[in-house]
Amino acid sequence: MIDPRIEEVLESLYESEVEQGRPSPLDAAAEPVRLACEAGLTAACGGGLRLTEPGRAAARDVVRRHRLAERLLVDVLDVAREDVEEDACQFEHIIRRGLDEKICRLLGHPRMCPHGKPIPAGLCCQSARADAIREVRPLAEGPIGGEGVVAYLSTRQRRDIQKLMAMGILPGSRIRLIRRFPSYVFQVGYGQFTADESLAAVIYVHWKEDANRERGAGGGGNRES
Ligand SMILES: [Zn+2]
Ligand SMILES: [Zn+2]
Repeated sequence: MIDPRIEEVLESLYESEVEQGRPSPLDAAAEPVRLACEAGLTAACGGGLRLTEPGRAAARDVVRRHRLAERLLVDVLDVAREDVEEDACQFEHIIRRGLDEKICRLLGHPRMCPHGKPIPAGLCCQSARADAIREVRPLAEGPIGGEGVVAYLSTRQRRDIQKLMAMGILPGSRIRLIRRFPSYVFQVGYGQFTADESLAAVIYVHWKEDANRERGAGGGGNRES
């Protein structure tokens, strides 16, 4: 595992060099930068600093873990978006390779962090995309008639949790959205239930792929009628 101080350097360089295409604002004389150079991850260039090839791969990995940690904190652990930055910084160092894939799968291979920055794709995302992603989105955003499996509940409100449990909604439950208006109507097992928007927003569902297709994701073949 790379020294967390070096990881911070890599992350900053990835954002400036790879994503924004501008020179790094880092001080080349700072201790962590020197360490990154010694590790062969960065190199001095024209008074500035750039990522070496292994440095770029390592940096991509750090950024991926950071943004996945943000998604996990906001979507599953219900941390406010404003508070997420600092927690995610500590979290990213803990998430090792292998665990990032598990988190990525749990979250449905998200493409964006809560701030709208792209999450570099992992191997898990590539294979998930190849066999049509099963996207995770809240029930409130699901397609009418769409079916899926509850992935997780993003709430710490005891009232919400009690209501959801009373309806038998737990991770792994099969769920189908029937109606969205005037309130959300859905089926779980043999029962039909209603929920208001705030409750429907905390139920995250792994939608089946045909549910994605309904939104115009394309299913091959031009059919004319
Ligand atoms: Zn972010
Ligand atoms: Zn993935």
